[in-house]
Amino acid sequence: MPQSTQSRPFIIDQLEALLRRLPPHHPKREEVAHKLLLFQVGAAGEASLDYYLQQLPDHLTVLRHITLPAPGEAKTFQIDLLLLSPSFVFIGEVKHIAGELQFDVERGQMIRTSEEGKDVFTCPVRQSERQAYLFEKWLEKHRFPKMPVLPNVLISNRKAQITAPDHIPSIYHTAVLPSKAAGLAGQLTEPLLSKSQFRRLTKKVTAMNIERPWSDLLQRFHLSLEDILGPLQCKVCFENQWMKKRSGWKCAGCGVATGNMYVEALGDIRLLTKEPLRRRDLQRVFEGVSKRTALRILQKHADRCGLYYQLRVKDQ
Ligand SMILES: [Zn+2]
Repeated sequence: MPQSTQSRPFIIDQLEALLRRLPPHHPKREEVAHKLLLFQVGAAGEASLDYYLQQLPDHLTVLRHITLPAPGEAKTFQIDLLLLSPSFVFIGEVKHIAGELQFDVERGQMIRTSEEGKDVFTCPVRQSERQAYLFEKWLEKHRFPKMPVLPNVLISNRKAQITAPDHIPSIYHTAVLPSKAAGLAGQLTEPLLSKSQFRRLTKKVTAMNIERPWSDLLQRFHLSLEDILGPLQCKVCFENQWMKKRSGWKCAGCGVATGNMYVEALGDIRLLTKEPLRRRDLQRVFEGVSKRTALRILQKHADRCGLYYQLRVKDQ
């Protein structure tokens, strides 16, 4: 059962980097932290899928967190769970939401009632239908034969109670996934792809998958570069005077030692912006450090182009 290796969405790395870069009292911290929590909860819910994926029929190819370029658009589309067979394609939108979930597909809403009251979400059925539509287009673009692409909504939270119209059986708890997939495999038996076409499909999806889909978080949270290019502060005493030690840096205020914090900070900045940065903008990050030392660090971790420095992508 081949599986995509990506264990968690890349946006979690980006949100963590943003939180490390925002100053302690920045007004957007709470909003960013809340978003991060939502993604972490979602990732935990998707991890719980593993148990059920092991029970799927052997001939299905299982891929997780797939991001593909949308045909004819500059955008991408993301699929939480993609099951491939020579007879059909299964698209799974996974939601890890607790409470009473009421699906109003006609109106494009999902209403959650919990102890905290009512919340309204965009209907995940619409989301998975859109992904199925885009995947069909993608198949067409890459000259695969037409085949059924089936949108599904999987609720991974055990504390969810699902209320959905009877005529839409594609909304269910992840525990039902093995029997749903086995049912589909039993119904759709005619192979629409030859063995070599099926191998090509799996290869093509894997090859075109964007493993680290970059999100513009500065735009999303209405932040500017200035917000993330502040000086490195000590997490204990909030000072920003540092002493260079053989093993890293030491706070001049309280003496707490840190590791390679400037390298980590540059890596975080690179996760948040792709643009080359001006030396004088980056200089703020190095406040409290001699110009020579700052330059030495920059030269090691960025490529200079005129007055700008292009930070290198952090090693995985
Ligand atoms: Zn300190």
